[in-house]
Amino acid sequence: MDFSFTEEQELFRKSVREFCEKKIAPKANEIDEKGEIPQEVLEDMASFGLLGITIPQEYGGSGADFVTAAIATEEIARADISMATAVYYLVEAGWGFLINRYGSKKAKEELLPDVTKGKTFLGIASTEAAGGSDVAAVSTTMAKEGEKLVINGSKTFISGVREATKYGGGYVTVVKTSPELAHKGLSLCYLPVKDVPGITTNVFKQMGREGISTGAIIIKNVEIPSHYLIGDWNKGFYYAMEGFNCARPLVAAACIGAAEKALESGIEYLKERRVFGSPLAKFEGMQFQVAEDYAKLESARLLVYKAAWMLDQMYTKNRFSHKEINKAVASAKLIAPTVAFDVIKDVLIWHGAYGYTKEAGLEKGLRGVASYIMGAEGAQNIMKLIISRELLGKDFAPY
Ligand SMILES: Cc1cc2nc3c(=O)[nH]c(=O)nc-3n(C[C@H](O)[C@H](O)[C@H](O)COP(=O)(O)OP(=O)(O)OC[C@H]3O[C@@H](n4cnc5c(N)ncnc54)[C@H](O)[C@@H]3O)c2cc1C
Repeated sequence: MDFSFTEEQELFRKSVREFCEKKIAPKANEIDEKGEIPQEVLEDMASFGLLGITIPQEYGGSGADFVTAAIATEEIARADISMATAVYYLVEAGWGFLINRYGSKKAKEELLPDVTKGKTFLGIASTEAAGGSDVAAVSTTMAKEGEKLVINGSKTFISGVREATKYGGGYVTVVKTSPELAHKGLSLCYLPVKDVPGITTNVFKQMGREGISTGAIIIKNVEIPSHYLIGDWNKGFYYAMEGFNCARPLVAAACIGAAEKALESGIEYLKERRVFGSPLAKFEGMQFQVAEDYAKLESARLLVYKAAWMLDQMYTKNRFSHKEINKAVASAKLIAPTVAFDVIKDVLIWHGAYGYTKEAGLEKGLRGVASYIMGAEGAQNIMKLIISRELLGKDFAPY
């Protein structure tokens, strides 16, 4: 067993860190305050090869594996701890991989190069107002009408709605195609949103990740070409679960990246800040927290890279069953956001009143990481349900 990254991975991390420190970190406050990732940041990320990183070279991507994608996610979140930039990057990396795997050649040729160039946004639209956790209950329908597919319904709490409406782009969208078949009656399609007749969008006010929007998509008799069907008809539930398994280790990597950066700055602060005649770092109460936070973060990090590595092994060497992947991925997504939240909260408190200011720059990390506790890419209880279903067996699943 070897826990070290390869020389190539270390070099990649170094170059991404340099890029992020130069191009993203100086804009991090602006991204949070203005509520937008500047276009030049996205262009720079695209030029560096970060956008749609898992998409193959023939469509302009790097064809990166998930460990590489996780390294980049961690670094991007270190530079912008609000998580906005990491979210923009990771949904494209996770769901771009899925389109490449199951989408039609025509759709891939048409859609993926613009994603990797940073011209259009690509996201996931699964959640509906009636609830996000129960994916099988999706009620947005898609029907075949001649050569077209016609979609009706709505999606809500969807990341990147403003970006996709502004720049162009669209969503890997979960739709019901055979209502009588429950989860076996779902399909996956690509739904464009910019200037599409029948599409209206609105953007929500949210508590964090200000640089990337969250909003709703209302879909009325929207026609898409048949080559936008992703994979086989009525197999969408399985593809969606696979897509979540690809995106979740990256979500977890973003959380640990933001928390690592916070912890490093917290340690520096503890060494500098003098109270009762000595640096805060000299107090055992503080030292114990530093040690606990480090150990918790390191354990979350191990879960993240184990899950990413297992995905790579599955895709390249046919190793590990879906059961094993499900447990590893859900464990990483269950632990990393909560640990990251706790670590950033501790660091914020070490800063005393200064921690309560925007200037300290820590609260935006707390707000960003919280999105992944609330539910983005799957709520925490759903991760527990996935793990327990694999441990106890389907006979003991609650439904
Ligand atoms: C910032 C943000 C961005 C998002 N971006 C996207 C996006 O891009 N695309 C997208 O499709 N969705 C997105 N979502 C939605 C996200 O996927 C959902 O929030 C998530 O799936 C949970 O659904 P829900 O919010 O409807 O909560 P519900 O499903 O109503 O669940 C509410 C609570 O009940 C718990 N719960 C649910 N079922 C069970 C159960 N069986 N047992 C025990 N507890 C349970 C959940 O853990 C949760 O705490 C985003 C959410 C946020 C906060």
